[in-house]
Amino acid sequence: MRESRVKCDSCGRTAPRYKSAPVVRRVFGELRKVYYCISCAKHRGIKLQEAKEKVRRGPPRRRARRSQ
Ligand SMILES: [Zn+2]
Repeated sequence: MRESRVKCDSCGRTAPRYKSAPVVRRVFGELRKVYYCISCAKHRGIKLQEAKEKVRRGPPRRRARRSQ
């Protein structure tokens, strides 16, 4: 099975998707999903597993309820 490859948003290298950290970034007011390769993610203190969980849960939204 061929793994899909993604381009690292930071260094531009391509890496297998499972080896890169998905990060949701706001670009010009738009939420976009970008990927960082392992070394860039590490450099930014992003944990692969955490990043994947976060993206799976969806982009952060304003809560209808107030928590306070
Ligand atoms: Zn990179």
